[in-house]
Amino acid sequence: MSGNSARVSAINAITNGTTYSATPTEPLSKIWACDVFNLPKMEECVSKSAFKAFKNTVQTGAALDGATADIVAAAMKDWAMAKGAKFFSHIFYPMTNATAEKHDGFIIPNSEGNAITEFTGSLLIKGEPDGSSFPNGSLRMTNAARGYTAWDPTSPAYIMHTANGAALMIPSIFMSWTGEALDKKIPLLRSNAAMNDAAQKVLRLMGEKDIAPLNSSCGAEQEYFLIDENFANARPDLLLAGRTLFGAPPAKGQQFDDHYFGAIPERVQVFMQDFEDQLYRLGIPAKTHHNEVAPGQFEIAPYYESANVAADHQQLLMTVMKATAKKHGLVALLHEKPFAGLNGSGKHVNWSVGNSTQGNLLDPGNVPEKNLNFLLFCGAVIRGVHKFGPLLRAVIASAANDHRLGANEAPPAILSVYLGDQLEGIFNDILAGKISASDDGGLMDSGLSQILPFNRDPGDRNRTSPFAFTGNRFEFRAVGSSQSVSGPLVAMNTILADSLNWIAEKLDAKLSGGADQTTAVFGVIKTIMEEHGQVIFGGDGYSTEWHTAAVEERGLKNIPTTADALPAFKEDSVKALFSSTGVLTPVELASRYEVYSEQYVLSIEVEAKLVIDMATTTIYPAAMGYLSELGAAASAAATFGALFNSDLAKQIASDADKMMVNVTALKDAIAKHDFDSTEAHLHYCAKSITTLMNEVRVYADSLEQNVADSAWPLPKYSEMLFIK
Ligand code: ADP
Ligand code: MG
Repeated sequence: MSGNSARVSAINAITNGTTYSATPTEPLSKIWACDVFNLPKMEECVSKSAFKAFKNTVQTGAALDGATADIVAAAMKDWAMAKGAKFFSHIFYPMTNATAEKHDGFIIPNSEGNAITEFTGSLLIKGEPDGSSFPNGSLRMTNAARGYTAWDPTSPAYIMHTANGAALMIPSIFMSWTGEALDKKIPLLRSNAAMNDAAQKVLRLMGEKDIAPLNSSCGAEQEYFLIDENFANARPDLLLAGRTLFGAPPAKGQQFDDHYFGAIPERVQVFMQDFEDQLYRLGIPAKTHHNEVAPGQFEIAPYYESANVAADHQQLLMTVMKATAKKHGLVALLHEKPFAGLNGSGKHVNWSVGNSTQGNLLDPGNVPEKNLNFLLFCGAVIRGVHKFGPLLRAVIASAANDHRLGANEAPPAILSVYLGDQLEGIFNDILAGKISASDDGGLMDSGLSQILPFNRDPGDRNRTSPFAFTGNRFEFRAVGSSQSVSGPLVAMNTILADSLNWIAEKLDAKLSGGADQTTAVFGVIKTIMEEHGQVIFGGDGYSTEWHTAAVEERGLKNIPTTADALPAFKEDSVKALFSSTGVLTPVELASRYEVYSEQYVLSIEVEAKLVIDMATTTIYPAAMGYLSELGAAASAAATFGALFNSDLAKQIASDADKMMVNVTALKDAIAKHDFDSTEAHLHYCAKSITTLMNEVRVYADSLEQNVADSAWPLPKYSEMLFIK
């Protein structure tokens, strides 16, 4: 379809009210985890001893023996085949934000021509996809392509259905022949282990006797946009780059604040119910959903789970979201900034650490100043975020997320920590050497007699903070909506491990020196506050005063773009952090720098090519077509003695001209390929290329506002965001 016709048929399809059939939802008890081979299912079909051995592996990370693996594999295969699966796949998590899978049949034909099925422990445990086409950041040359996938028994296998069949999916790690991590799961598991080791040391010093293994937990809030697929199909930028590269602001945007928590449109409700049913079948605990700030924007948040399982579930959630939206004639946009001028989408990563014996160590309880374990763990986070702020910025850096961070929008590209008044007060008191009873929130009185009084939280929320304490966890709010949560979780677990190791050393010295426990803990916290307290900030993170004060007075870094952020991976302190904790070797770390840099460059290049293409083949012809209509109108006006206002035509001619001048400049710019270093290439993309792309857009958007509506080829913001 060409020109305006695509746009008109998109609008017609929606106005004619195509209805999308929805499957009626089923009771939760019937569908919950029905497609997951979880512990209860396994218990039903393997021997008691095999189950016990397996459960021990899941709970403590102990090694699994071959015999048990065989038993589990056979049971898993029978279960999956009974549900219609003929194939199985190790699903893994390469260094892109996507997932990868290679499907293998259960079938093995024998010499009589009969098909038998086989699935042994060794097939379950190890797979060998050709790894050469996954980004590896020069960890392997393409001629040394061997890559292994290996089963992660701590994340349950599940069935993915399509209309025609089903496959057993087995969450796996992905490593090179030489044993290097090529994925996002291995570092996450290692970071959890490092955090556990360090936390055990601190807790033992604190006199705890019975200490179960500690695990990190994650609950991710996922924001996304939904638009009708007819519109997306008429916009190459949405299809290929996930965001609009052109589009004038609509007369009505989000300025009325009427979308946030508003009534959910029925079509979207129907989609959400279907989506959540799919998630329940997969054992993903979808918990809340609501409208977000921008029109067409929504959020879903599952209940929190162990970080490793939550990370796998997050990837699966994004896959299921896109597939379910398609069923409903919608496109789910997970891009961080699909529409300029409107709120972008983030993924708030809620994170805590704990175990079954000491509980959640980031839960202050009712009297935080007496909860010494909490003070130490919270202090450890403060130290880590301050010491490694640039690393936290680097793990969420992408071309897409740069449109949120560093732009005039939540949250800022300066990493600070929000604690809330009560905790900030306590930490400052410890710094000042005076401890006072802390102020609990007190009763909240709504002034309405029919409303029961309820307890107020001890601190308000701060939407402008990139890293906020929210009652019993930290919320890393700067993570982008399309990103894997693994990178942020690895960084948080690792900086926590590093800080806890440091704390253990200091604490040990003080305690061996004869200090009592409280004095020792307060002494350690005081040092943390002296050296790192400047990272704590409770004010408005968007304000210009903060941007100045953070950098000039507190020495924090403002890191606006990915080009500025990624080099943090090359810092000696970051290398030392990852090698000392055993999370990433220097080689593995370097490969991540290369991979993320390459992805940044590639995404900017794809966008630049789309800008050139759409401006040249869609927008310029529309402008010229309309200009010639105006030309005809001018001669008609002359013929009939009417006045013709030529300003509009002149504006269009001038915009079209300038747009194409910038298109030519952009073409030349992307032809350049000789760079002295990766860093130079990153900065070139961040500055030269994006500046030219923005220039082209300025003139294109001006054309959109001047060319006759009937002659405009691309669906407009007002249509995409408001027609349901
Ligand atoms: P908000 O009020 O921030 O929008 P939501 O209820 O939408 O909160 O989401 C909060 C997320 O934090 C949920 O995924 C929730 O399960 C998760 N969460 C709650 N407690 C913890 C915890 N202790 N550790 C990690 N995540 C948690
Ligand atoms: Mg939140």
